[in-house]
Amino acid sequence: MAKKWVYLARNGKQAYGELLGREPSLAEMKELFGGKGAGLVDMTAAGAPVPPSFTITTEACVAFMETGDFPEGMWEQTLEAMKDIEAQTGKAFGDPENPLLVSVRSGSRSSMPGMMDTVLNLGLNDETRAALEKLTGNEWFSYDAYRRFITMFSDIVMDYDREHFEDKLDGLKQKEGVELDTEVSLDGLKWLVDAYKEMYRNRFGEDFPTDPYDQLRLATIAVFRSWNGERAIAYREHEGIPHHWGTAANVCTMVFGNMGNDSATGVAFSRSPSTGEHEYLYGEFLVNAQGEDVVAGIRTPQQVSLKGAREWAARQGISEDVRAKRYPSLEEIMPDTYQQFVDIAHMLERYYKDMQDLEFTIERGKLWMLQTRTGKRTAAAHVRIAVDLAREGVIDKEEALLRVEPEHVEQLLRPAFDPTARKQRIARGLNASPGAAVGKAVFAAARATEMATQGENVILVRPETSPDDVPGMLASKGVLTQKGGATSHAAVVARGNNLPCVAGCGEISVDANRRQFTTPDGTVVHEGDVISIDGYTGEVFVGSVPLTESRYEDQKDLITLLSWADEVRTLGVRTNADYPKDAQRAVAFGAEGIGLCRTEHMFFDERARDAVVRMIIADNDDDRQQALDDMLPFQEQDFEGIFEAMDGKPVIMRLIDPPMHEFLPNREELTDDVYRLKLKILTDVSDFDELDRLRAELDEKEKMLHIVEGMWEVNPMMGLRGCRAGIMYKGLTEMQTRAYFQAACRCAKRGISVHPEVMIPLVGVVAELKLEREKLEAVAKDVMAEEGIEVPAIFGTMIEVPRAALTAGEIAEYAQFFSFGTNDLTQMAYGYSRDDAEGKFLLQYVERGILPENPFQVLDEVGVGRLVKMCVEEGRAANPGLEVGICGEHGGDPKSIDFCHRVGLDYVSCSPYRVPIARLAAAQSAIVNR
Ligand code: PEP
Ligand code: MG
Repeated sequence: MAKKWVYLARNGKQAYGELLGREPSLAEMKELFGGKGAGLVDMTAAGAPVPPSFTITTEACVAFMETGDFPEGMWEQTLEAMKDIEAQTGKAFGDPENPLLVSVRSGSRSSMPGMMDTVLNLGLNDETRAALEKLTGNEWFSYDAYRRFITMFSDIVMDYDREHFEDKLDGLKQKEGVELDTEVSLDGLKWLVDAYKEMYRNRFGEDFPTDPYDQLRLATIAVFRSWNGERAIAYREHEGIPHHWGTAANVCTMVFGNMGNDSATGVAFSRSPSTGEHEYLYGEFLVNAQGEDVVAGIRTPQQVSLKGAREWAARQGISEDVRAKRYPSLEEIMPDTYQQFVDIAHMLERYYKDMQDLEFTIERGKLWMLQTRTGKRTAAAHVRIAVDLAREGVIDKEEALLRVEPEHVEQLLRPAFDPTARKQRIARGLNASPGAAVGKAVFAAARATEMATQGENVILVRPETSPDDVPGMLASKGVLTQKGGATSHAAVVARGNNLPCVAGCGEISVDANRRQFTTPDGTVVHEGDVISIDGYTGEVFVGSVPLTESRYEDQKDLITLLSWADEVRTLGVRTNADYPKDAQRAVAFGAEGIGLCRTEHMFFDERARDAVVRMIIADNDDDRQQALDDMLPFQEQDFEGIFEAMDGKPVIMRLIDPPMHEFLPNREELTDDVYRLKLKILTDVSDFDELDRLRAELDEKEKMLHIVEGMWEVNPMMGLRGCRAGIMYKGLTEMQTRAYFQAACRCAKRGISVHPEVMIPLVGVVAELKLEREKLEAVAKDVMAEEGIEVPAIFGTMIEVPRAALTAGEIAEYAQFFSFGTNDLTQMAYGYSRDDAEGKFLLQYVERGILPENPFQVLDEVGVGRLVKMCVEEGRAANPGLEVGICGEHGGDPKSIDFCHRVGLDYVSCSPYRVPIARLAAAQSAIVNR
């Protein structure tokens, strides 16, 4: 017996099931029947009123592509299936009394919208047209269907471009002085049909095919061939869809929405695709129209439901009177059919367990469902629909959690550009911190602060940023840098503060002195010019692009969803927060502790600045100690604020990390200053007082330059920083630890529960850790004794240097916790500078496929991940109680979070605004890795 190539929708699921020996999954059905065919089969099985149809399988298409002929048995099975449809409809194909008309529709496994062909109204010829006229009592409609059919068949099956036919129709409309196709006269249509037939005869030297079975055969071939059409191939290349899949051909009974005023056609969503609410059906329709008229935009569609119609009219500024008269809803004009549609939509939603996008036609009062699919929706609708469906018991909470992408959460928390807005892009950089911002370009941090104080929205544009720029960054709506990557200063600070940031935008050239930047096409943006930056995509636009915004506290559904996430996730979620206000924000977002408090940020506090410089340049112990004593209260104050905000949750304080020269004036600037002062003294001094003043200033600058030069390192990121600074600068980490434990003890005395954890950065050999820990533990003990209260403290280390990961067993003996600093670990594992690589080659590497992803954004599982895994295993083996987390930027990246879950970390720590994303991602990992 020949292979089965053709399946009827009315029993296709069953027939395929018999072949498989079990019920086929929807995915299996899609493979064989294509998406559309599977939909028809499945929708029919669900009990929806679907026009009778059958599907010629994708396998038949594949066989056809191989040989150029229909495979054995396929055509016979097609004819048999036609008989079945005839029986179902009571009509016959080509019957001059009661003709059946069909469409042949393409449909592959995965959706390729508009890329392949479909032919409608097959079965029409002079006789069946006349029958259609008799049956509908509508001669005009019968000719309209006929002329549409000839156009489409000629275009799609015979490759005779439809434009020729459109031109003819346009000429006719002009002659008749009408605008719309529906206004063309009956005589006009009759003339048009004859003209079309003649065009066909002239072109092909034969008559337009009148045998319905010839039409069907040719249309099926055309649909199969359209799989290898230019558009389809290009689309598959772009979407990565395999070329060997083939398309199914679906033969469906035609139903007509243009059979008079009791007919209609439209599309509707079972829930709002923009908000997710489900008060009514969200959609539109046209009375007496074909499906293509709804999308063509010639007539204004009416709303399906009454409430929707009223809301639509209000938005359009149309009065209720006018609306009711000119744009009545389906609910008003066909209340029973509307109710039936509501019930079917509800039933299909239950069947498919998701919001549905439905295509329907009403033929002389009878409702037909043509297609249903999972509806596309906004991020807000994603969350709302998932939560609602779980509450309604349609899906369970875990399914709801899997339905929402972490990116959706991200979109809900950040301002975004209105997707419909017109934009003029001038450059593209790295999408360093998501969100969208609009403001006037400014080129210096101080200027940003100044303009922001005056109420201006500004975007800080810098070659790159340094800690000095932070106040200016925080005053800005967004940050744009020419250099630096995903872990650059600009990116880290921006992410930590929910500031949109485009970094490493090497396409622009920033001239901070002239207060301008230039783009590759020569556009010059001056201070005060408005620009818009998109931190999701890394794009930079000139002018103001409109924004949409929302607040976490208002997102009740998201809050509910994340509470479900907390029930299933096993990975803790902490935050990277340096200031009390960040800590508060993060707790509101659900952070369970601080995984990284970068204490150096406190060193930039204006009030402590002088003491910090004195501490670094001190040339004797007394001066240094004095400076440290002066710094201590500022550190302590911030720590108290953080403990208060965290109220009992663990807080990891990381000891000073960056190279000390970062806290001193810049070497190049000092050199310039010295030169400028010398020149002035030589050439431009008018009196002795000024000479004395300038000399004193020069002395000071030269002294500072001397110190800065003494500290200068070729490669400061591998130099005197992290625990090395703690070891080399006497008293420094002791002061930090003292401030930290004084804050902890004092908070504890005020009844606040505290869990201080001290983190020693950049350890590479165990001796460093041992030395620092013993020293600092003693300080902690002293403070507790002085304060007369004990607090539960633990000491641990960052794992940032590959050698530390490789010697985890030794290190774990002196650490109560590990926290992976994957920014530095990635830098050192690859040997890529985290400050320069993205701007120089890394993004190109990703573009050219040398690297699959930017390893500073998504943790490299193969290499860096191996270090992490090994380190966790060996660390825990040596010290079973070891707490292990991550605090590099990867701690907020969903893919990396999944790795952290699989490798058994206790928690991830990320910037406050990523906390909700991390909660969801951790829950998804828990579910899918079960
Ligand atoms: C890290 O290296 O991953 C880290 C968190 O520390 P920092 O970014 O401050 O160097
Ligand atoms: Mg680090």
